[in-house]
Amino acid sequence: MGEKGQRLLIGKVIFSGNIILKTGLHIGGSQESMQIGGLDLPVIRDSATNLPYIPGSSLKGKLRSTLERFGEREKDGKKEKLAFNRNIGTFRNRLFIHCCEDVNYAINCDVCRVFGSSGDDKSMPRGQKAENFPALLAVRDCLLDKSLISPSSEFTEIKIETGIDRISMSANPRRVERVLPGTKFNFGMVYSVDAIKLKENESLVFNEEILRKDLDNLLTSMEIVQNEGLGGYASRGYGQIEFQFSEFKGRSLGYFKGDPEKEKGISGSELSINEAKKHIDEIVQFLKEEAAGVIAR
Ligand SMILES: [Zn+2]
Repeated sequence: MGEKGQRLLIGKVIFSGNIILKTGLHIGGSQESMQIGGLDLPVIRDSATNLPYIPGSSLKGKLRSTLERFGEREKDGKKEKLAFNRNIGTFRNRLFIHCCEDVNYAINCDVCRVFGSSGDDKSMPRGQKAENFPALLAVRDCLLDKSLISPSSEFTEIKIETGIDRISMSANPRRVERVLPGTKFNFGMVYSVDAIKLKENESLVFNEEILRKDLDNLLTSMEIVQNEGLGGYASRGYGQIEFQFSEFKGRSLGYFKGDPEKEKGISGSELSINEAKKHIDEIVQFLKEEAAGVIAR
């Protein structure tokens, strides 16, 4: 029967579209500080093209940290809010996030099920090893929209940020690079729809409630990021974005094997997050039917 956490692929849910910058975006890159007149805080650029981009890890991290603030998990039959329990920094420079201790909890956790967790042996009874739970969600790097790429285009501006010393009134200006408002990036996320073996001695289970909840949580997190901003200095007006969907679709294994009929959902242009949300039930229902066929075999 295999081990707990074993998975059977049922299909994928595709989230894709554009991220439109409403205000300047700063996601930090490596410093060119040795250069005279170099920027204090440059934006991250694709090393092959030298164009700014939004790393998948930045978007994934922002969505994860957002969901950590409203998601929950079921532990020993009880629902609980998520604790920021794991220090992924160092002893001196602490950096706490939520991360489930073991696969047993991660499967029933809104955050770790979608974004993954690494086992923490220290939290286990003596001699027992904690297991990882690999993420169901993959987030691609968000590249600059191709329609905008021309050799003469400028994509960034330099903004001077100044701190004023409250006693001497001396200024401490820094040159911050940010991607211009109006810039468009493509985004793409793929959520793996798996039948998972949730308990020892049980068979693989496709859980429609989990799928519905995960899709709803992801879209809600995107809505919150749209309100809070992405990247650095969001509290100072940077990084206001809008997600515009071109596709929100569930595809079963049959689709990937070559049957274009095996998908449900919505495609179009400039679709809002709320428009996408209206199609969750349709996608869940479709994948539930597809899963029944796969698991029965
Ligand atoms: Zn968790």
